Amino acid sequence: MLSIENNEIRISPSEPVSQLKSAAPVYKLSGVFRDCCSISKPFAVVRKIPLYEVLSVSSSASQVTISCIRRHHSKRPIKTLILDVDNQERRDAFVEAVWSGAYANVQQRKRVIVLLNPFGGSGKAKHIWQNIVKHILEAAQYSIHLEETRYAGHAADIARKLVLADYDAVICVSGDGLGHEVLNGFSRREDAIEALKMPLAFVPAGSGNAAARSLYNTQDHVECVLAIVKGICTPIDLLSITQGTSRYLSYLSTSFGVIADADLGTEHLRWMGQARFTYGVVRRILSRTKYPCKLSLSIVCDDKSIIKKGYMEARSTSSGLASTDARDHKPTYASGKLPPLKYGTVNDPIPENWITHSFPKMGTFYTGLMPYMSSTACFFPTATPASGLIDVLYIQADIPFFSAINTVGAVDSAKHFDSEHCYYARCDAFRLTPEKTTELISIDGEKVVCEPLQGEIQRGLGMIITKNGHYYSHFDLDEK
Ligand code: ADP
Ligand code: MG
Repeated sequence: MLSIENNEIRISPSEPVSQLKSAAPVYKLSGVFRDCCSISKPFAVVRKIPLYEVLSVSSSASQVTISCIRRHHSKRPIKTLILDVDNQERRDAFVEAVWSGAYANVQQRKRVIVLLNPFGGSGKAKHIWQNIVKHILEAAQYSIHLEETRYAGHAADIARKLVLADYDAVICVSGDGLGHEVLNGFSRREDAIEALKMPLAFVPAGSGNAAARSLYNTQDHVECVLAIVKGICTPIDLLSITQGTSRYLSYLSTSFGVIADADLGTEHLRWMGQARFTYGVVRRILSRTKYPCKLSLSIVCDDKSIIKKGYMEARSTSSGLASTDARDHKPTYASGKLPPLKYGTVNDPIPENWITHSFPKMGTFYTGLMPYMSSTACFFPTATPASGLIDVLYIQADIPFFSAINTVGAVDSAKHFDSEHCYYARCDAFRLTPEKTTELISIDGEKVVCEPLQGEIQRGLGMIITKNGHYYSHFDLDEK
């Protein structure tokens, strides 16, 4: 017999109804229970399938078929269970109850466009798609349109022309760069505001998979896709950047100095996968390279203890708003093009209340909208999805060598946050003016021209599929 209790399907071979403790509905479906490949042996214990793991359920002439995930089995990620049941009414009631339990508050059978970057990371995206992602989405009865990107910028072109009404989400099988392209494709549309409401999801298949780690807390492809299928559409802040005469969007990071160099200056080492970043960082620190620049910050809070306390308190309450988060009501954007900028562009005078300093010996300037900047490095542990603020840090190049290595090396456990060498603030805008035009600037891991740029947060302008409405941060582990 089958019952649905405590978010599980319980399959009990002989348990009489009266012994089931809760008042949950019981589906007395008696019949032969089989696995996909073999008639199952008689079983004595109660089998339990968490509803979170159920992708779909369907009924045909005399059978109920349940497709669920096989966790930690990247080779065969789907398990199918078949139950022979004659009574149609019971069959239908059970099927309906499973669907609504498995997708409580989550849209079922989404229509998705999957963008796959065969060039990302060490080129494994196709393999990941064919062997894992495709099977899970099909088992969840998704309607899938697959597009392999053929050139850099292709994903932006697709996003610019996408018929929004045809899809419920965009899934990127890539690194972080494809997400950047999609958002910027959307941003150039006449209906940018509507397009940016299209939820974006990430399956990690690049060398920089910061978004997937921040959203799903794992690099395991089966877990990520399950989190996407069962995930929550969550509004996120976007950074509107102006540079020269252009304006574009960022959802992840801005880096200048050691980190940008380590990322963009190691393109030739793509074969190394993620290790190329570590190699790049250590090399730059060893050579004590300086990156002179001027920084102007619109600071909301730069007291680390207040920032951390606010984050921890917010995580333990249901509001999710850190005390340094902008408290104003979330803006509702008028439909149409990108919203106007509160602080003007990089070509306007710097607002009077911003703090400006020159840094002849800058080592790393880094801003982040998500906690993780790679699958392990938690550079911005207090970043939250729609706070209206961006986390900003810098580390100067003239600190002792071992301090530099220790500070950067501490990012996996977010210990750099407390380092005296690391400045940390939450801001709603900033301007970066590099002194030389020959350095590298990276936005979301993508190279942009080395010219002054200004970024301003636009609260809740984007949409992303998270596992549970939050970003994952190493600080959450400290709490436990
Ligand atoms: P990674 O994490 O390895 O950087 P990304 O997904 O960020 O992976 O993509 C890296 C770059 O690949 C992006 O700049 C993107 O524009 C570019 N790109 C996408 N498709 C192609 C392609 N078919 N050929 C070359 N470059 C591509
Ligand atoms: Mg990238």
